[in-house]
Amino acid sequence: MERTIKILGAGPSGLTASINLARAGYNVEVYEKNKTVGKRFSGCFQILENYTEKEELLDAFNRMNVKINFFCHPSKKIDFYDSKLNLCSLKSKKPYGYFIKRGNEKDTLDYGLAEQAEKSGVKIIYNENINTEKADIIAVGANSAAGIAKEIVFDTDSDDTFKVILDNNIAPKGFTYLFVINKKGTLGTAVLKKKSEINRLTAKSVGKFQKTGKFEMNNQKEVVSYVNFYLPKSAKLNNSLKIGEAAGFQDNLFGIGTRIAVTSGYLAAKSIIENIDYDELWKKHIAGKMKMSMVNRFFYELCGNTGYSLFNKTAKNKDIREFGYKLYKPDCFRNSIFPFIKIAQDIKKKLHKRN
Ligand SMILES: Cc1cc2nc3c(=O)[nH]c(=O)nc-3n(C[C@H](O)[C@H](O)[C@H](O)COP(=O)(O)OP(=O)(O)OC[C@H]3O[C@@H](n4cnc5c(N)ncnc54)[C@H](O)[C@@H]3O)c2cc1C
Repeated sequence: MERTIKILGAGPSGLTASINLARAGYNVEVYEKNKTVGKRFSGCFQILENYTEKEELLDAFNRMNVKINFFCHPSKKIDFYDSKLNLCSLKSKKPYGYFIKRGNEKDTLDYGLAEQAEKSGVKIIYNENINTEKADIIAVGANSAAGIAKEIVFDTDSDDTFKVILDNNIAPKGFTYLFVINKKGTLGTAVLKKKSEINRLTAKSVGKFQKTGKFEMNNQKEVVSYVNFYLPKSAKLNNSLKIGEAAGFQDNLFGIGTRIAVTSGYLAAKSIIENIDYDELWKKHIAGKMKMSMVNRFFYELCGNTGYSLFNKTAKNKDIREFGYKLYKPDCFRNSIFPFIKIAQDIKKKLHKRN
């Protein structure tokens, strides 16, 4: 039997690392500060993106030893609106993503991964915290607030709906979304500016979505959460490996980070099992698309509402999965401006720390 590996945090990144290490014969202990997994969320829908990589998401999860034992609903259609509610309806031949649920209910990603981990022999220790110095892997999620998101989960009379509004007046530098599947809805507002006004902005988002088609919102549950992104030089802290959002790994454009979190968990396990440098692994498999997402965000913030309308017009009639793939595929132009954008991000991070 190999040595015991201690992982701090039972989110998608930590649990994926634990499953792979246990399969390789390690004793694995996962320490979760809450009494269940998924406390950061309340049954909301999230999307597992299937557009940043050529490899189909379900094949990638299979390769990383993650089974689909959770709600996972493929989607090939989504409606984007600009600030004037001009509609851009987008489709894809293959699913551009899979809707999943987050939280601690039985069909959530969090619950499903915890079940897989325990079946592989992982010991999950709830309500317990250990010092980061004692952890081999740090997987504690967002550690500072680059952005903030408020979500409302509700029952509704609406048919299945996938809608996004890009409007700086209701989601400054962010976006607002409405997903309905089988009469359950999630309405979220993610902002990078005016974070203290999130309640007012969410109320405005609700009003705006109602203008795209009336729907009921019964049995509402609300959650406010942080989003963090930062491309680090190294994802090691002394002898520990940082994974998922704890390392800053996240999609800078829209905060669609769960696939990256799972991948980083898999890579951290691989680095321990095969004795390969972890920084080398994530730089090869994750850094490229994160860099492109930082460049995409730079242009997204520069453009404002006029730019969002242009974005919608440019995307119109394109296959959304293929359009997304091009947005995240490294190219010469974006590689050449990336270093300047990284310097600006480093300065922002330093100022943020000082305040
Ligand atoms: C509102 C919102 C909507 C989002 N929507 C999407 C989406 O649609 N698609 C997508 O791909 N991504 C989305 N994301 C991002 C996604 O949730 C994250 O990228 C992903 O959850 C990161 O996984 P993780 O394992 O790094 O961290 P987390 O999921 O945050 O898990 C960290 C775990 O560590 C535990 N923990 C924290 N501190 C400690 C400690 N000191 N000791 C022990 N345990 C600790 C926490 O309780 C938690 O269980 C969204 C994020 C938010 C906030």
